[in-house]
Amino acid sequence: MTAVALHQVAPYRDALRAALLGWYDAQARTLPWRAPPGANVRTDPYRVWLSEVMLQQTTVPHATPYFLDFTERWPTVGDLAAVADADLMAAWAGLGYYARARNLLACARAVAGRRGGVFPDTEADLLALPGVGVYTAAAVAAIAFDREANVVDGNVERVVSRLFAVETPLPASRPELRTLAGSLVTANRPGDWAQALMDLGATVCRPRSPACLLCPVSEWCAAYRSGQPERYPLKTKKADRPRRFGTAWVLRDGEGRVALVQRSDKGLLGGMLGLPTSDWTTTPPGAAPPVAADWRDAGAIDHVFTHFSLTLSVQAAEGRGDFIWMPEVEALKALPTVFRKALEKAK
Ligand code: SF4
Repeated sequence: MTAVALHQVAPYRDALRAALLGWYDAQARTLPWRAPPGANVRTDPYRVWLSEVMLQQTTVPHATPYFLDFTERWPTVGDLAAVADADLMAAWAGLGYYARARNLLACARAVAGRRGGVFPDTEADLLALPGVGVYTAAAVAAIAFDREANVVDGNVERVVSRLFAVETPLPASRPELRTLAGSLVTANRPGDWAQALMDLGATVCRPRSPACLLCPVSEWCAAYRSGQPERYPLKTKKADRPRRFGTAWVLRDGEGRVALVQRSDKGLLGGMLGLPTSDWTTTPPGAAPPVAADWRDAGAIDHVFTHFSLTLSVQAAEGRGDFIWMPEVEALKALPTVFRKALEKAK
């Protein structure tokens, strides 16, 4: 049940919006993909789209150097579309969620090809692009084109669940939170509104310790009035992540190079370079190494993926074989984090 019914929002919506937009005008975070609030310049949709894809499940400090690197190397969507898949995957290494990198390239190629390098300016047309979901389409439509779009990410869900003291736990509350967030969107500065809510969630209405005394909308916040703002959003307890096990083999040639393989396009880390590994299964494996060598046990590493945790036993040896051989210093930059950890372990 929502503590505040939707029709009750109307009387104070404009005051709440004015307070938050005023706060945003004064306090907006300076971000490399963003135009200053109220500025009469249209933000480049390529930069907005790229930043939004990078920021899904990644923090601003972590994504920023990647964004700067990408936009320096590939300043337009046409430049990005022309990149070889392997180069893009290497540049993406460390950002995680590699399916997003493949979708990024597919989308860039669709915009550069079918659309002559011009991003569509409506939510519906953005949604038709490969790999562009509801959130990204709304964010690009609002931020780059000032369209009246309802942009709802985790930050916005948290802020809205507190403003309205929503008692339904996540994830069941998502449709309700979306409706409530939509009730606050108007045709007045929709791009700034979306970014103001995101900033409020990131800097003031933080997950663990909301700074309500600094909050521009505390006057209208039901969770603040309840005295327990951090109680929201309520969450259904998650089942523990299952654990899988595997072995990674670090084979060095004695000349500073390490043996890598190209992973199959399908499945986790598809298309990426990786260390040779066994399958990742629910029982500790006894898989045979990829080549005969004097293998020594270098310990184990843990890594957390979205749907499971992985314990990788790391085996190291010197030897030769039919692999992709890469200088180890380069491999440490190009490999996904899980393999970097294994390589570090085998030092
Ligand atoms: Fe969040 Fe507190 Fe502001 Fe409510 S008053 S929106 S809980 S920071």
